[in-house]
Amino acid sequence: MAACNQYYYATRDPFGASGDFTTAQEFSQMFGELLGACLADCWVRAGKPPDAIYVELGPGRGTLAADALRVMRVAGFDPAVHFVETSPVLREAQAAAVPGAVWHDEITDLPAAPVLLVANEFLDALPVRQFVEGVERKVNVAAGGLAFDRDGEIVETSPHRDEAVSQVASRLAASGGAALIIDYGHPKGAPGDTLQAIHAPGFAPLLDRPGEQDLTAHVDFEAVAKAAHAAGASMTPLVPQGQWLERLGIAARADALAKAHPERTDEIDSARRRLCDPDEMGALFKATAIHSRDWPAPAGLE
Ligand code: SAH
Repeated sequence: MAACNQYYYATRDPFGASGDFTTAQEFSQMFGELLGACLADCWVRAGKPPDAIYVELGPGRGTLAADALRVMRVAGFDPAVHFVETSPVLREAQAAAVPGAVWHDEITDLPAAPVLLVANEFLDALPVRQFVEGVERKVNVAAGGLAFDRDGEIVETSPHRDEAVSQVASRLAASGGAALIIDYGHPKGAPGDTLQAIHAPGFAPLLDRPGEQDLTAHVDFEAVAKAAHAAGASMTPLVPQGQWLERLGIAARADALAKAHPERTDEIDSARRRLCDPDEMGALFKATAIHSRDWPAPAGLE
């Protein structure tokens, strides 16, 4: 999964109508703007540390960062921008969207400074391991393609994800700050196979076309909380994305945008519904924040 995703992201821009999938930031500026407002508010309530930086993990095309930074600057917060991104193709798109950003391969390479961080649909792309009756499930080369070596009740873990969360939480605990995490997943760990492949126009057989389709797994937020606490940071409750964006004022933002661009009213309204309605992204996606004990919880997640 690690090798497939590394190749997949390194060799294409997978987003949008011509790609394999579309994320929240790509179909509405409201998503990044509300996250930017949330981070700026958190920074103000933390006492406006002048050296605070903006960090994004796996920023895709950089659209969310550009939308968030526009709002943060209006609020008087103009941070240095640090991206953790391994794909050279996506780094190029990010450079066009956010001039002046600095890139890192690893979370541990980030400078020591107070951090306002975003990870949208990042943790789901990190590799998982699956176990059946305590034995790891592996992929073999079989006649006609790839095949799993065993079936049965599956228990998933993600040491890579736990490690990433632990690195973020350690940085926050040491330097102060808050990290917004938005992803699909479940509040409690439970047995089950959540690994999925996306290849336009939708879900695809998992082992087809290795490296040519997006592989993701649902995030076990109980494991995220465990890793965050173990590293000395706090974690807020998990809030469904739709509810969180409503608390952050998406209705007011949609109204203001529609007033400024009456010809786009339908598009703005449908984007708001796609982000918030429980049968669209509103309930499957969840938001939470990890923050240092001396920083406030970001708005809407307290
Ligand atoms: N946040 C963006 C993109 C999500 S896709 C959005 O919401 O649209 C996952 C992103 O994480 C891509 O930018 C991908 O290149 C990056 N990525 C995946 N695995 C990574 C890893 N191990 N280290 C750093 N970046 C990674």
